Amino acid sequence: MPYRIAVAGIGKIARDQHLPCIGKNRNFTLVAGVSRSAKIEGVPNFESLAALKASKLKVDCLALCTPPAVRLAMAREALDHGWHLLIEKPPTPTVGELLAMEAYARKKKRVLYATWHSRYNKSVDMAKAKLRGKHVDFLRVTWKEDVHKWHPGQAWIWEPGGFGVFDPGINALSIVTKILPEPIFVDSATIEVPADAATPIAADIRFKRGDGATADLSAVFDWRQKTGETWEIEVATRDGLKLHLKNGGSILEINGKTAHKAVLREYEDIYAKFARLLKAKKSEVDPSPLQLVSDCFMLGKPKVVAPVG
Ligand code: NAP
Repeated sequence: MPYRIAVAGIGKIARDQHLPCIGKNRNFTLVAGVSRSAKIEGVPNFESLAALKASKLKVDCLALCTPPAVRLAMAREALDHGWHLLIEKPPTPTVGELLAMEAYARKKKRVLYATWHSRYNKSVDMAKAKLRGKHVDFLRVTWKEDVHKWHPGQAWIWEPGGFGVFDPGINALSIVTKILPEPIFVDSATIEVPADAATPIAADIRFKRGDGATADLSAVFDWRQKTGETWEIEVATRDGLKLHLKNGGSILEINGKTAHKAVLREYEDIYAKFARLLKAKKSEVDPSPLQLVSDCFMLGKPKVVAPVG
């Protein structure tokens, strides 16, 4: 029997990806929507998780697509109701909240799947395989896009816990933390915060290796790019291997030659994996991208820039 799933937070990503991918996956049946204002056609809709629970509708799991700042309380409530959970990225505003959510799911014996959609890509898997056992001495992440195109009219991104440019930037870091053979650490950062916002519009980050060996490791995130997107990760190793992930990680070049162009099916793969985790009764929670973002805020030098308006 398919898993009966409800979706909470019916905004851009729920409509762009979650609802279509649930519709395509035979392991799931959409049974309800939970939103303070929106409605999903064809299923009952509820204003809160409590109202959904009170309806006595049978629910096995919930996809939580709200902004991160409200996730922990909603996740705990869903777990209290006995539902397994899939959550959007970034999982929570802080590492502490994510660890608490993970512990709560364990206590309640429910599956918690904290997704990182950019990791679901054959080119990313190939890059990881190529880098296994290698000594990485160069990393350059360039992640630039137009905030108004990707987050039209969204106020939460500029509020505390809204991540600002780290909302897309954490996608790059989710790839970096997947493909690198060893963890890297934040060395220093400059964070540009608009005068009228609580979160950054741009960031320039230097990383270091854990063993102290010399390495040129950096990332630049910018939400002020007006035309197109630049979503690129370049990696080089001591023995001369050069990898270049382009187009959000979907194109992989190895030593200057195209090695793979992936067809993007990130959310299809996320729901296929969620079904496997539910079947195996296993959770998957990796805080490492969030830890790097948190460390940027801990070590970063803030610079006030022009208001975003
Ligand atoms: P969005 O369009 O603003 O949608 C968020 C939804 O959450 C809204 O429908 C809203 O529904 C609900 N919500 C907002 N504030 C809430 C609150 N305080 N309490 C409860 N519900 C609240 O945002 P989005 O772009 O879909 O992003 C949501 C998450 O998905 C973020 O973590 C983002 O990083 C991630 N994501 C976004 C994209 C993208 O392309 N935008 C891509 C991948 C991942 P109601 O007000 O109707 O309840």
